Amino acid sequence: MENNEEYNINYEYISRYIRRTMKKSTGLLAEMEAYAKENEVPIAQPETAKLIENIILMSGAKKVLEIGSAIGYSSIIMAGAGAEVTTIERNEEIFDVLESNISKSGYGDKIKLLKGDALEILEGVDDTFDFIFVDAAKGQYSEFLPHCMRMLKVGGILFSDNILYKGMVATDELYKRRKITIIRRLRKYLDTICNMDELNTVIVPIGDGATISYRLK
Ligand code: SAH
Ligand code: MG
Repeated sequence: MENNEEYNINYEYISRYIRRTMKKSTGLLAEMEAYAKENEVPIAQPETAKLIENIILMSGAKKVLEIGSAIGYSSIIMAGAGAEVTTIERNEEIFDVLESNISKSGYGDKIKLLKGDALEILEGVDDTFDFIFVDAAKGQYSEFLPHCMRMLKVGGILFSDNILYKGMVATDELYKRRKITIIRRLRKYLDTICNMDELNTVIVPIGDGATISYRLK
């Protein structure tokens, strides 16, 4: 079984075709894509970012919570789609790059950066959101979930990225021993969000695998 080296579960020829077909990013976003590639920052795959952008546009989501900002690539895309974004990042080393990108993007007034570990930060966030993007440490998704459910509005969307983790979540054929804890935790997370009465969840095999969960009640 072959798949890409990067965080992507699809055949390379499929991803290549999709990306060739998409409009090329320009300006700051193009620079950020190049920076991410060079520095191995796991930003959303372009097609995943496009899906998120479209969901925000289609749903008219105005308030977004993002767990895992990295260099601000997805935050800027979501702000560009009309949302006000609160985003959490714990990595001190990339925080300067993150701040500088947000400022360059011109969305400084629409993106609120919270520095620190999401599990601690979330304790102190008491707000409601139309769209929550979970894109941080894959082993912690289940721990983020109660906070997401506390703050996600009914009719809102929970979007989780990297849930098939290079395909390893879906088959033991790709199993890597040192990844077993993350794989188990992701499977448990998927089992939970796919079976909760409050959520209508679909697993989408895009990028590294994503889930879209609509909050029913
Ligand atoms: N959403 C970004 C990519 C995020 S990559 C984009 O698509 O552009 C994942 C990021 O989550 C990393 O920068 C990592 O430092 C951060 N992260 C992981 N676990 C975290 C946690 N518990 N709290 C805060 N940030 C976390
Ligand atoms: Mg991701």
